Order: sequence, then C-alpha cells, then structure tokens
Amino acid sequence: MRTVDEHRSAALALGAALTPVRVPLLEALGCVLAEEVTAAWPLPSFDNTSMDGYAVRAVDLEGAAEQSPVSLRVIDDVAAGHLPSRAVEPGSAVRIMTGARIPAGADAVVPVEWTDGGIEVVSVSRAPDAGAHVRLRGEDVREGDPLVPAGTIVTSRQIALLAAAGRGDVLVHPRPRVAVLSTGDELVEPGQPLEEGRIADSNSFMLMAAVTEAGGIPHRAGPVRDDEAALRAALELEAQRSDLIISTGGVSMGAYDTVKAVLSQTGSVEFVKVAMQPGMPQGLGRVGATPIITLPGNPVSAYVSFEVFARPLIRRMRGCSWVDRARIDARCGRAFTSPAGKTQFARVTVEADDEGVTALPEGAQGSHILGGLARAQALAVIPPEVTRIEQGDRLELIDLSPDD
Ligand code: AMP
Ligand code: MG
Repeated sequence: MRTVDEHRSAALALGAALTPVRVPLLEALGCVLAEEVTAAWPLPSFDNTSMDGYAVRAVDLEGAAEQSPVSLRVIDDVAAGHLPSRAVEPGSAVRIMTGARIPAGADAVVPVEWTDGGIEVVSVSRAPDAGAHVRLRGEDVREGDPLVPAGTIVTSRQIALLAAAGRGDVLVHPRPRVAVLSTGDELVEPGQPLEEGRIADSNSFMLMAAVTEAGGIPHRAGPVRDDEAALRAALELEAQRSDLIISTGGVSMGAYDTVKAVLSQTGSVEFVKVAMQPGMPQGLGRVGATPIITLPGNPVSAYVSFEVFARPLIRRMRGCSWVDRARIDARCGRAFTSPAGKTQFARVTVEADDEGVTALPEGAQGSHILGGLARAQALAVIPPEVTRIEQGDRLELIDLSPDD
C-alpha cells in the first residue's frame, strides 16, 4: 500500500504552474502574478494636498491664533484634476481642494476649518507647520520600486496598487480548467425526484464547489453512466478542453467499476491502494496529455481525497508557491479510535478558549456520513501507528475554513 505522502507527491508531479497569460487587471483577481511589476512613476506622482483649504507659505502665518488671526490675499482656486495658474507669493494664498497640486511657492496647507473660508481674502486663526497637509511626490512608492512581486496572489489590495501605478493588464498564471466527472447508474440530478434505489449526484456538486474554492475553474462533465463507451467518449472530450480531470466513483473492486476498467486499458493511469481512511482506492495519471485524478465514489472519501491530493495540484497549476492548507495544533476533547496502519482524516468540530483549540470528533466517521462532513470544521490527521486518541492528546488539524 502507498502512503498518503507518496500518493500526494505523485499527484503534485502531474502538473506545474500553467503558462502565463496577459489579462485585463480585474481578471487577475485571485490569480498568481507571473511578473514582478515595478512602478512606472512615483506615487503620489506630484505634491498635492490632503485637505480642502488654502496653500500657503508657513512663514506668513507664524503667530496666527484665534485672538490674532492673519489675513492673506486669495489669488487662485484649484480643484483636483486642475493645475494652479499662479505661484504663492508672500502675503497670498491659493484656495485648494483635496488631491489638487500644491502651487509653486507654497509649503503648507491650512485646512478650511482653521479659516473663515474667505474667497478673496482669507482670515487664518491657526499657524501650520511647514509641510502640513502636503502629500509629497514619491512618499508612497518611488519610481522603479517593486510594486508587487511575482508569485503574489492578487487581491483587491494589489489591484488598487496596480491600478494606481497605471497598469491596465498584468501577466498571471491562468486558473486551471477542471472537468468534474461523476460516474454511476444510480445518480440523479439534485432537485429531481428520487426513484427507488437511486441517489442524488452530490459528489459532482461538492467537487464543482471545491474546485472553485481551490481557485480552479470547474465544469461539470457528468454524470456518466457505468458504460465503458460513454465514459471513454467523455474522457476524450474532457482531455481536449481541460487542464485537469477529476472523476469520482468506479475505482474500487466492484463489477461495474467503469473508470478503473476503461483507464486500466490505456496504461497511463495507475490504480493503487493508499493507506488512508477514508479514501483507500485511488488512481492518477493521464488521459492523453491531460492529468487525471480518479477519486473514490463514497462522498466523504471523495472530499477527503480531493483535499489531500487534488487541491494541492490545482494550487500548483495556479502557480501558488504554498499549496497546503493551514494546520492547527489542538487537543482532543473526546477519545476516539483510528485504524492501524492507515492515516485517518477524522472529521472534527473545533472550539477555541483560553487554553487553545479543542477538537471534537464527529460521532459517525463512515465514508457515507455527509451530515458529519458538513458540520466538520477541520480534519484531524491521525498517523498510521496511532490507534487510540485519548482526551487531552495533541492533535494536528487541517483547517477547512474558507481561504483565498
Ligand atoms: P463506487 O466507487 O462507484 O462503487 O461508489 C461508491 C459509493 O459512492 C456508492 O455508494 C455510490 O452510490 C456512491 N457514489 C458514487 N458516485 C457518487 C456521486 N456522484 N454522488 C454521491 N454518491 C456517489
Ligand atoms: Mg459507481
């Protein structure tokens, strides 16, 4: 049997960061930057005022106070986006709005609140320090400075900086297009009535959502019936239009395990047992040049194996340098058992208090228990040699909270 780490390494080896493409700035959201963007000009790009008020020479207002206001001639009026037409001379001021360029000669801005708001002559009742309320050219970013390093996952905050620096497009690794292919004669569309013996195709909906959460672009390629010709046709189509195929079902020892039957013939997919619970039967390889991960059909097995094998590969294809979820140190709140010789991924809820994080295992840990999976906030990783976890024992958790 293969270890979880061995199979994870094999999964990661199936793909690399996708070839960068240039996209309009907003389409870069959530993508990994594939170039280092440097500033083509400084930010701010010119000295400007941070307040509505009057541009002045600080020296003219020395001693200005409530009891001894100083009057200045107002010689110009500048709004944001417009240029001053006159320089400030001794005894004069320029009325100025937030973001407008500081006129020559001025070295400070008096906020309108310190004045009588005069249009032709302004009376100032407080003295500004030199430099007050002036935002200096280049004080944020200097020309040529690195703005955002390659490898950064672009969020709204980087988009703000890139836009301010005048970038209309950027080079990013594209999100991988992932085909989600469920298999099984028993599957019915969610929302449709269930006939006797049939079940809703929850796996493909779960995986569509999980691929999106992992930063991929999913498309639903199934469900495909347990029919070899139909499955072969679906796989050939998806191999042409996808960066990755993820299937569920049909990989165990049953008589109608079509995925295994079809892909064993091509020789480019290996089917193995991985020492884990849930999720023992696994497969991975290629259909043509396209990587495929074949997940087991049981819903909890499919989820856990997606988390452990497929999610890291999707993140690698996105160009993320960090492909794993955050891990949390916790202590066990209720004793439970784990199978010998297998890594268990126990579904747990978590409680945090002054002492730290306590993990409580869901009562039922079967690979069909979707209620427990939905309630779980983390997966406790129990190593193969551990068979019993006592209350108070340390646990390592994979945090399932939503992330980038
Ligand atoms: P299989 O590996 O195809 O034998 O499936 C194992 C178990 O998972 C069976 O109980 C299936 O009915 C169930 N299963 C397979 N595919 C799905 C799916 N897409 N959604 C929900 N359950 C599934
Ligand atoms: Mg099946």
